[in-house]
Amino acid sequence: MDVTRRIAISPSTTIFESTSRRAQARGAINLGQGFPDFPEPAELLDAAARAVRERSNQYPPMRGLPTLRDAIAAYYRGTQQLTVADEEIVVTSGGTEALAATFLALLEPGDEVILVQPLYDSYLPLVERVGATARLIDLQPPGWTLPLEALEAAISPRTRLIVLNTPHNPSGTAIDMATLEAVGALCERHDLFLLCDEVWEATLLDGAPHVSPLHISSLRERAVKIGSAGKIFALTGWKVGWVVAAPPIAAAIAARHQFLTFTTAPSLQWAVAEGLALPLVWYDAQRARFEAARDRLVAGLGEAGYRVLPARGTWFVTVDLAGSGLPADDLAVADQLIDQAGVAAIPVSAFYVERAETNYLRFCFAKESAVLDTAIERLAVFRRAVA
Ligand code: PMP
Repeated sequence: MDVTRRIAISPSTTIFESTSRRAQARGAINLGQGFPDFPEPAELLDAAARAVRERSNQYPPMRGLPTLRDAIAAYYRGTQQLTVADEEIVVTSGGTEALAATFLALLEPGDEVILVQPLYDSYLPLVERVGATARLIDLQPPGWTLPLEALEAAISPRTRLIVLNTPHNPSGTAIDMATLEAVGALCERHDLFLLCDEVWEATLLDGAPHVSPLHISSLRERAVKIGSAGKIFALTGWKVGWVVAAPPIAAAIAARHQFLTFTTAPSLQWAVAEGLALPLVWYDAQRARFEAARDRLVAGLGEAGYRVLPARGTWFVTVDLAGSGLPADDLAVADQLIDQAGVAAIPVSAFYVERAETNYLRFCFAKESAVLDTAIERLAVFRRAVA
């Protein structure tokens, strides 16, 4: 008998992985999966190499190296004016593990969780694996604003957690303080936890400050903030992330983390601690580089007749297909783009639970100028032929 028939995996491969594979097979420029092709930050690479040689490579403390936890607290003090205590931090293997540990810690079978679409693809499978049920609400394009009335209407007596993501993948938009305060009032009124996926917090462009639920005093005791060094330093494969939450919540998450991965490579933790201590001008330079890349892609697509929605964070912009004179069917257009234009993008419908087509495609701008220019040329030719 074939025991593997008992394995139920859904979905089998993420759209990011399958698009990257298809792009590679066709020789297409990959503006799909979100990773930069810029030179990697030498400061962090050197620090990691040094740490491998000069530091212990044995199990570090379960909650993360004290030096890294100190560096995370100092980073948030310096960049976001947040005061975070050591017992509020748990280092995890990327934002992904932080999400899993948080869902495991805060949810019981039968609980309800409010998720906001378009959503990052790991949320729903993890929530369902815990035995909880997701209630879905939709951001409203073109501003991708959070509909507060729909959010409140989705709350039931079983609701335990709201999940937000800011800056938001795939739209590149960010939540403002007034909206967060309104969500905070809902959480208090209905006694809910709030998980805020802030892995893109360092990518806000144009000098806008990042706002977190931890800035709101009423949320300080009920919000979980998730961060990722992979995004802060554009080293997506490093998978060093963390959770920041009030001590009892952090302790519950640490209890889950210890049986998920227990800990994360110490060399990378040392390197991230060094990175977080870099002067603010280093971060400014990094941000300027991403700003220039975004502006290049947005201007190029605009000249080629595409309607690009405003984006101020992450490494992504979304294109309004109908507004660009193309069919409002992101799945079909994404296929055509790979096959005919030689450019890969991610259909935004992949970020919805019901995979009906949407009117939006996500493009990653974190690429070298020459790569962006070639992609823009190809997309211009494509649009002239199709629109
Ligand atoms: N949340 C969001 C919204 C993301 O976009 C990503 C990565 N693309 C993650 C979490 C996962 O972060 P990490 O790579 O640190 O696991």
